[in-house]
Amino acid sequence: MKYDIAVLPGDGIGPEVTAQAVEILKAVGRKFGHEFVLHQGKIGGCAIDACGEPLPAATLELCKKCDAVLLGAVGGPKWDSLPGNMRPEAGLLGIRAGLELFANLRPAVIYNALKSASPLRGDIIKDGIDILVVRELTGGMYFGHKGRLRQEGMPEAAFDTETYSAEEVERIARVAFEAAMKRSRRVTSVDKANVLESSRLWREVVVRIARDYPRVELNHMYVDNAAMQLVRNPAQFDVILTSNMFGDILSDEASMITGSIGMLPSASLGSGKLGLYEPIHGSAPDIAGQDKANPIAAILSLGMMMKYSLELDQAADLIERAVKNVLDRGYRTGDIMSEGARLTGTREMGRLIGEEIEKIG
Ligand code: ATP
Repeated sequence: MKYDIAVLPGDGIGPEVTAQAVEILKAVGRKFGHEFVLHQGKIGGCAIDACGEPLPAATLELCKKCDAVLLGAVGGPKWDSLPGNMRPEAGLLGIRAGLELFANLRPAVIYNALKSASPLRGDIIKDGIDILVVRELTGGMYFGHKGRLRQEGMPEAAFDTETYSAEEVERIARVAFEAAMKRSRRVTSVDKANVLESSRLWREVVVRIARDYPRVELNHMYVDNAAMQLVRNPAQFDVILTSNMFGDILSDEASMITGSIGMLPSASLGSGKLGLYEPIHGSAPDIAGQDKANPIAAILSLGMMMKYSLELDQAADLIERAVKNVLDRGYRTGDIMSEGARLTGTREMGRLIGEEIEKIG
């Protein structure tokens, strides 16, 4: 099969880690006989320098024509003094809106070899952790009606509104159930239905959508309890389905229990197959250009692309296994280094994972 992939390396360590993900893409192509046609585009600070704006129209058009988008990271001190809508990060918001991506998927996995990096006690993570947080990305309080109330004789006040339509809940719920079908078939829907009317609607809709997925087990959890359970017994979770604001908080909490930001990928999806895949880390200007960055988050983002946009589940599994094997053999970049392990740079880590892909499967 032939696939068109937009590649937007961005700034800082973005180009370095993306280059390694591209090498893995080529290795997967050779292994399975697929043709991946790469289309380079600019986003973030490098786009500001070249075109005067963080998301040039040509980049968005390019992405719309492709099957999937692989993104590195954006931003850096060079552009920090620019106004908000001209900053590199505005490119990210723009591309998510422009491609109508309403679902954000963030796995939090603790690999056997990296258990010591987790801030959680060994007995809590002894069976490993593999959670996928599915967060609604374009609705809820962050985008609801908001304002300031200034009335004579009254203290100043402000409000933000959490609004969800049944349709918005339905489409994100479907993403979560579809993802669960590719995993352990358990969905935990997180809300605050004991207090919030929007959560009660959320729950009703999720229950209704669950009927279309009889093989998936659904349970509900209040967000305060979910925050506790994530550190008390994270192994109980498979897919966590939640709103924009709760997801913002819980996905960061889930990431931190893995203890390794350089390992964590993400996917943003819309109603079609087109998706945007990027590491959750930023451009890390402090280590840019030094061959120190961990490319695994970018490589695992590519793995997610295989699964969610291209439906190449076998290739996705192969990428995940190759990463795991290289870690099991004791290779580490600086951010995940531990005593007795073998220190590698960005390029060597990419090469090792590529070789592993050639070897196994
Ligand atoms: P942003 O606001 O764009 O997320 P940030 O500075 O808050 O940026 P990151 O850019 O993610 O956060 O980096 C935080 C620190 O984590 C960096 O300074 C870097 O040392 C480390 N780091 C991030 N990503 C990686 C990586 N892939 N490999 C190694 N270290 C990393």
